[in-house]
Amino acid sequence: MNRFLTILLACFVATHAHSQTIINRDPGIEAMTNTISADSLKATIEKLVSFGTRHTLSDTTRTGRGIAAARSWVLQQFQRYAAASGGRLTASIDTATLAADGRRVDKPTLLGNVVATLKGTDKDNNRIYIISGHLDSRVTDVMNRNADAPGANDDGSGVAAVLECARVMSTQSFPSTIIFVALSGEEQGLLGANMMAARAKKEGWNIDAVLNNDIIGSNNSNETKITDNTRLRVFSEAFSVSDTGRALQTIRSYGLENDSRSRQLARYVKEVGERYVPNLEVMLVYRNDRFLRNGDQTPFQQRGFTAVRLTEMNENYDHQHQDVRTEKGTSYGDLTSFMDFEYLRKNTAVNLAVLANLAKAPLPPAEPVFEGGLGNRTSIKWKTVAGAAGYYILVRETSSAVWQKKYFTTQTSYSLPMSRDNYFFAVQSVTAAGNESQAVIPATVR
Ligand SMILES: [Zn+2]
Repeated sequence: MNRFLTILLACFVATHAHSQTIINRDPGIEAMTNTISADSLKATIEKLVSFGTRHTLSDTTRTGRGIAAARSWVLQQFQRYAAASGGRLTASIDTATLAADGRRVDKPTLLGNVVATLKGTDKDNNRIYIISGHLDSRVTDVMNRNADAPGANDDGSGVAAVLECARVMSTQSFPSTIIFVALSGEEQGLLGANMMAARAKKEGWNIDAVLNNDIIGSNNSNETKITDNTRLRVFSEAFSVSDTGRALQTIRSYGLENDSRSRQLARYVKEVGERYVPNLEVMLVYRNDRFLRNGDQTPFQQRGFTAVRLTEMNENYDHQHQDVRTEKGTSYGDLTSFMDFEYLRKNTAVNLAVLANLAKAPLPPAEPVFEGGLGNRTSIKWKTVAGAAGYYILVRETSSAVWQKKYFTTQTSYSLPMSRDNYFFAVQSVTAAGNESQAVIPATVR
């Protein structure tokens, strides 16, 4: 338990200026994050670009060109990792034939998500964690299926992160299941994500978190000319589709509009990502996606799943959704040469650390509730959880985006001389190696 005393002390000390912050890492996760390779990510993207276009409506009959050839190659990579996984990883292409929809699909089209599943080892645990990127690419005209659409960053970067996490993680085993997926049809209307989320809903998958990666590998912006590979954005929405009626009333009454499950996941990505990846700050953005835009996290959220979007800090509009060309001395197009593979390595490591920590974590504390009535102390109790070596009580001021203090206990209750008027509280379960569950807000019983 000395480790926990150290963490507790670190959390206390870290709140004071000029003090030390002690970082404790799970050596297994640290070793995996150190295995992520910028060269491997670059090789994947160069191969993806070599398919010319990966447009969802592109010619599927050609060898080495188009979306079907790209899908087959991604499947082959997953199958390579599967062969070395001791039977834990399986891979396939999940397909559906779409009819023309009068929008961005103008002919019957075979849509295919390339999916690899790393089955959890705990038979009593059906939790699923998903990492996604989209395989399809586009140029200026979203219906142009013939022009070269390299899609190196949008979203070769996301697919490369998915493949790299699968490569490294498939050599290990986790209690929970992890799904690695290269989605399709994103640019034509989030079609592949819709297909997967609808199936998950219908079949009752217990998805605990979705990390959607879209445009995570370039470090500079046009117009403002900022170059910086030390910040990554995580977008999360305030409300779930289930936040209606009484649930919405509770959120309004208690001021919980920044405590949705997606927002808790975003905080988790920040804390765990920064724990394992030096020289990278995770910036929380309090919206579902960028202004006027959308991504593959949305179809999952629309069905009540917890999902966030990871995106680079500085977007360059000269290099996304552009015909490849040079105009007045400016190069347009989504090419590999505009990317930063060290930045992509760090962003991939954030994904791996978060997925691994979640997949190793126990369930959150069961049925946490605030005890007692009004007063200047806050008491919380919960029920014990299998696999937990102890529990964290998290505290933050109501205007703080992140949890500021963390207390550890091996008991199933905790009391603090702090008023619920002025702070938010949550609880987490944690293993002996320091793998935390997601944070849950105790219920208020009146
Ligand atoms: Zn994209």
